Amino acid sequence: MAVSSTPARSPRRARGEGQWALGHREPLNANERTKKDDDPLNVRARIENIYAHGGFASIDPADLRGRFRWWGLYTQRKAGIDGGRTAVLEPHELDDEYFMLRVRVDGGQLNLEQLRVIAQISTEFARDSADITDRQNIQLHWIRVEDVPEIWRRLEAVGLQTTEACGDCPRVVLGSPVAGVSADEVVDPTPALDEIVARFVGNKEFSNLPRKFKSSISWLADMPYEVNDISFLGVEHPDYGPGFDLWVGGGLSTNPMLAQRVGVWVPLAEVPEVWAGVVSIFRDYGYRRLRHRARLKFLVADWGVEKFREILEKEYLGRSLLDGPAPVLPEQPIDHIGVHRQRDGRYYVGAAPVVGRVSGSQLAALADVVEAHGSGRVSLTPYQKLLVLDVPQERTEALVTALRGIGLEARPSTWRRSTMACTGIEFCKLAIVETKARGQELVARLEERLGDIDADITININGCPNACARTQTADIGLKGQLVVGPDGRQVEGFQVHLGGGLGMAQGQTAGFGRKLRGLKTTAEELPAYVERLARNYLSGRTGSD
Ligand code: SF4
Repeated sequence: MAVSSTPARSPRRARGEGQWALGHREPLNANERTKKDDDPLNVRARIENIYAHGGFASIDPADLRGRFRWWGLYTQRKAGIDGGRTAVLEPHELDDEYFMLRVRVDGGQLNLEQLRVIAQISTEFARDSADITDRQNIQLHWIRVEDVPEIWRRLEAVGLQTTEACGDCPRVVLGSPVAGVSADEVVDPTPALDEIVARFVGNKEFSNLPRKFKSSISWLADMPYEVNDISFLGVEHPDYGPGFDLWVGGGLSTNPMLAQRVGVWVPLAEVPEVWAGVVSIFRDYGYRRLRHRARLKFLVADWGVEKFREILEKEYLGRSLLDGPAPVLPEQPIDHIGVHRQRDGRYYVGAAPVVGRVSGSQLAALADVVEAHGSGRVSLTPYQKLLVLDVPQERTEALVTALRGIGLEARPSTWRRSTMACTGIEFCKLAIVETKARGQELVARLEERLGDIDADITININGCPNACARTQTADIGLKGQLVVGPDGRQVEGFQVHLGGGLGMAQGQTAGFGRKLRGLKTTAEELPAYVERLARNYLSGRTGSD
């Protein structure tokens, strides 16, 4: 994978974007300096040997706010600091002495032993907190550094890890929650996904990337594949049969870009090698000077996919890739909610918590319910929902009832089914507004006022412009910010993006929601605002039928 040639310099590159492949090895900012000073993966030994014994006060600041992330640890936001002060306080003023701990669940599937271990860690060490994230992780809160080694021991004993769950490295690899069981899946990509995790996660070859690197590998288009740095999506080649279509350069946040098709067909066995080639391009050519330009999407946008493919083939793979056809894409996101037949004749049942919030006690109860209904595993979706897999047909209705009994609804209203929320001000130091409780309140209000409706209206609630819950890809995307309240003072509110959606590749309903300058609401007014939008949409639709 050696870099063998140097591309022509554009005027911007002549100033230096910090690209290693162009000889810019000296760190150009504090984050790059931290990574160069010591590989972030090395912080684990200090956590186990020093910080877990010395407590929060013993933690070196460069580890605390930098390298800890490589082990899934972020300091939590101190309670009681309002969103207006997020941007003006120093990082240490926002830090609580507790951590968020992200457990990566590559591919999204958990057996009952794993589910019970997470549940027990939550109740014992995390004040019963647990959120299912929109990247198939489970996030715990209120973690003390003293407890981290014991938590790792328990997780790793059942094959789970927090390694590189955050940080400038390969994050959790999204996979279809029905991989291996779906009646519509032609090739199960799990072997490729497992190989990538086993070979490259926690590997120092990729532990210093310019920024985070998000992946998905799925036969079905049941992933937000357009917004990842790299996605492999199932496709049938007319001559070579089933394989995977490669997409690169997607990402949201403040400069949202959709991933682009590279136009190549990759057989399952070659997916890990191609994945490693793309990550290597990012490591070597990715921009490191400015954090906000350090995602792969900026390089892809500057190069174009033709050049990207050429560099991948010539400098990293040493061979040409086969041209490939475009995959057939669904018109709507596939969320797997409800009762569905598997290809082996058993069933899976998809159920919705509200905005991904669960608890350790609920997960423990879930494990018991799942076991009592003849299943041995669950999976998490990138829409903050969960599935129970391998259910005998005659047990499905009893399972739906039992899930409802523990607060998980397999026949949810549109509102509950299609609303997501990021972490928000409760725990996130970057947040400007509260999100989870607002999301729960919003769903309850819409269910009460509008009941269920026969339309799919997606609502993504985000606590700041970083768009962790994909602001730009929902019918109603909400970006947290301060707005002017009724008495002229600044209060929590949202900018509204309307009409976003994924699945754009064949000219379908895709694209980002439009951000309209005047479209803002205070957080207090949010339920009434969304209700008005929904009523207008529904009456307009009735009128045009
Ligand atoms: Fe935090 Fe902002 Fe991401 Fe929400 S969108 S989790 S507030 S960084």
